[in-house]
Amino acid sequence: MRPRQPNRPFRRTGSEVRPRRLSAAWVVPMSGPPIREGEVLVGSDGRILWAGQRGSGAVPDSAELSDWPDAVILPGLVNTHTHLELTGFAGMAEEPDFADWIRRIRTLKAARAPEEFLAAARRGLADCHAAGVTTVADTGDSGAVIEALAEAGGSGIAYHEVFGPHPDQLEESMSGLRERVAVLHRFVSERVRLGVSPHAPYTVSGALYRAVAEYAAQEGLPMAVHLAESAAESALVEESAGPFADAWRARGIPLPSPAGRSPVGWLDLHGVLGGRTLAIHVVRAGGEDVGRLKATGAAVAHCPLSNSRHGHGTAPLRAFLDAGVPVGVGTDSVASVGRLDLLAEARAARRLAGLDAEVALGLVSTAAAVAIGLGDQLGAIRPGLWGDLAVLDLPPSGGDGTVYEAILAGGPADVRETILGGRTVYRR
Ligand SMILES: [Zn+2]
Repeated sequence: MRPRQPNRPFRRTGSEVRPRRLSAAWVVPMSGPPIREGEVLVGSDGRILWAGQRGSGAVPDSAELSDWPDAVILPGLVNTHTHLELTGFAGMAEEPDFADWIRRIRTLKAARAPEEFLAAARRGLADCHAAGVTTVADTGDSGAVIEALAEAGGSGIAYHEVFGPHPDQLEESMSGLRERVAVLHRFVSERVRLGVSPHAPYTVSGALYRAVAEYAAQEGLPMAVHLAESAAESALVEESAGPFADAWRARGIPLPSPAGRSPVGWLDLHGVLGGRTLAIHVVRAGGEDVGRLKATGAAVAHCPLSNSRHGHGTAPLRAFLDAGVPVGVGTDSVASVGRLDLLAEARAARRLAGLDAEVALGLVSTAAAVAIGLGDQLGAIRPGLWGDLAVLDLPPSGGDGTVYEAILAGGPADVRETILGGRTVYRR
């Protein structure tokens, strides 16, 4: 069944913006070398017309001019993992144990009304724009984030979560998911996509994984899964042991079978890994798992600060990159990391895998866009891509090293303006 479209798309696509000429001390396209005294032209369709040396492009007559002689223009940042409906929960879930933390989040969510989720999603999206982030890949089950994206004319993918650890819950979970997809489809537009997210191996049965994967393939929906995140999850899937296994036994839920596989291997067995799948976290993965991700075409959302906050350990980022697995960096939620600072995440990824600054910055721009299937739409400054840009202060010295180093040393407070499809969505 195709998702019903009960209403017109929420927002007209292709609405015109005023063409813009944006110049700065540096333009950093990420798809080519940095341009000193650079300029970017964005057309009335919101897409990049041209980028190069200041003054050498053909500027449309009606263009709005902006110049930042002490700043750098870079691609709008891409956050490959958020839970914007949890905005406002920073500092409210401090449980050191992961299973306890999950329970705490459930309690916090249960106390929130639908309109509060929408208010949280709006605030979270505005915070992202203020931090130079123009595209988010978000998971949640309130439906608030796709609505917030649609009304703000934002850019992103909202993966709608589905739960059901007992195989007997399969029909109920699937009919609920189909219903929500049909309702939320009204928010889909050229820049706002809907996906599905069978939540995690400790909340989803093997049967439900298989059914969601088949449904996503039929409907052409992208899929995101929290995968191989905690020791408790690996113990559940591999050894039928640990706190999640104890909780399932107490509730009479059959344990994942067959046991003995890694979480990555177990999801692959159920048809979940593929070219439209974003695997979030993937901390507990060995060489065989990395090979499996590569072979299936699945991508990884790497969340170094969240992994560290929860004591999950460190993901094999270097191995993913060496194997050619598409990887982007994500923040995870404010309930995990307190504040969403994507450049801080890129620095953490850099330390973890010994990356140079350009590659680290790619993990929150070009490579991040590829990881969520939007590499032909955004993530770099080149003609044809969306005019999604972040303008960042340069240090007074211009930075000691390369302009990549200077950008990577920055944070949300350094963002001067954020532009989405040629439209300013944040100005300091
Ligand atoms: Zn998450």
